[in-house]
Amino acid sequence: MKTALTIAGSDSGGGAGIQADLKAFSANGVYGMSVITAVTAQNTVEVRSVQDIDTDIIRDQIEAVFDDIQVDAVKIGMLSKPETIEVVIEGLKKYKPSFIVLDPVMVSKGGHHLLQPEAVEKLKELLPLATVITPNIPEAEVLTGLTITNLDDMKKACEKIYELGVKTVLLKGGHLNSEPNDLFYDGQTFHLIEGKRFYTKNTHGTGCTLSAAIAANLAKGMSLLDAVQKAKCYISVAIEHSLDLGHGHGPTHHFY
Ligand code: PLP
Repeated sequence: MKTALTIAGSDSGGGAGIQADLKAFSANGVYGMSVITAVTAQNTVEVRSVQDIDTDIIRDQIEAVFDDIQVDAVKIGMLSKPETIEVVIEGLKKYKPSFIVLDPVMVSKGGHHLLQPEAVEKLKELLPLATVITPNIPEAEVLTGLTITNLDDMKKACEKIYELGVKTVLLKGGHLNSEPNDLFYDGQTFHLIEGKRFYTKNTHGTGCTLSAAIAANLAKGMSLLDAVQKAKCYISVAIEHSLDLGHGHGPTHHFY
């Protein structure tokens, strides 16, 4: 069986982070493993508190997995602080996994910082190691300093992120008012990955789920563009069937 590893934060509410990733891995037919970088006390309404995991234990988790088990793809989510990013870079350079999907998680829907603002520069050191990076509009604005309001701006942002040393950019357009179309850029060609908007408040964990599904598809041997297109279909249906759990933003549904 093909395998995928998520390096990310835990969401006690089960909708985002490690929990979303492992569900998406299972639903997409790969064996999921996890390296936990932070524990969030969280539900559908808010992130109440965050405990970063000691870097020694993060390093040990990475080594325990890679020393024993074949890892076909890695997905990276919440990294919280510069020291965590450093340990993850070390691990990736040591084990050189074939595919790395980097979701540059920065701020939760409720406004809680999941990446310390001062860690953004450190995050840029991780970019050249990624097969693909999957920023949403606010994350792309932080990475590029641009204001993004339309498809032209998205193209400029893709080019600017590519110049940071990333192999491929998937810029997610869901935060714009238009249809939630994403832009895929590999340094040569732009591909528009079209989506349909579902009017629901239950969108907690959509970014995590999409990047985990891309990693699962890469682990299964799909080309990158195929992996992204299939993952986009997967997240669209997962949002269409999202769950009205809790009192805030309910989670996407993996096993509809
Ligand atoms: N919590 C954790 C641990 C995450 O990794 C993420 C995702 O990126 C979130 C929360 C954010 O979830 P959302 O903004 O979709 O509510």
